[in-house]
Amino acid sequence: MQREDEPKNSLIQREKGELLGKQSIVSRSVVKNLIREAMESMEHAYNPYSHFYVGSALLTSRQKIYTGCNIENASYTPTNCAERTAFFKAVSEGERDFAAIAIVGGKEGIITDYCPPCGVCRQVIREFVDPKQFLVILAKSEEDYLLFFLEELLPMGFGPESL
Ligand SMILES: [Zn+2]
Repeated sequence: MQREDEPKNSLIQREKGELLGKQSIVSRSVVKNLIREAMESMEHAYNPYSHFYVGSALLTSRQKIYTGCNIENASYTPTNCAERTAFFKAVSEGERDFAAIAIVGGKEGIITDYCPPCGVCRQVIREFVDPKQFLVILAKSEEDYLLFFLEELLPMGFGPESL
């Protein structure tokens, strides 16, 4: 149980999955569902060059889910990561308020380890979220996952309020 004097955030480190971020909408079952959606999205990866599959599932504060996969390109640099695909889909449909993202990935579509977001994606996420509230879920399976606040993955990030 959460103690009165305890910051909401600290529960995540203590008992992963039980609590959770923004507006308490990210329950354990929501985490599992996001992981499942990310795994399904991973199958859509367009990755003829790296053969590395990544899937993501982004949860809005209104509990809508946007999925994403990595989309590679023959000239390489236009390649888009799964996390940014999900964010750009959501933002392009008017979403601005986000609670969590689940990310899975692996070579040839086989998940053997956690798949942390690249630096570019961390920065893109930072643009749209409160780094002290937004949860990043790195999963190997629905049972095996790590939870981070974005702030832990991007300390002292540069955001809209920095300008
Ligand atoms: Zn990325």
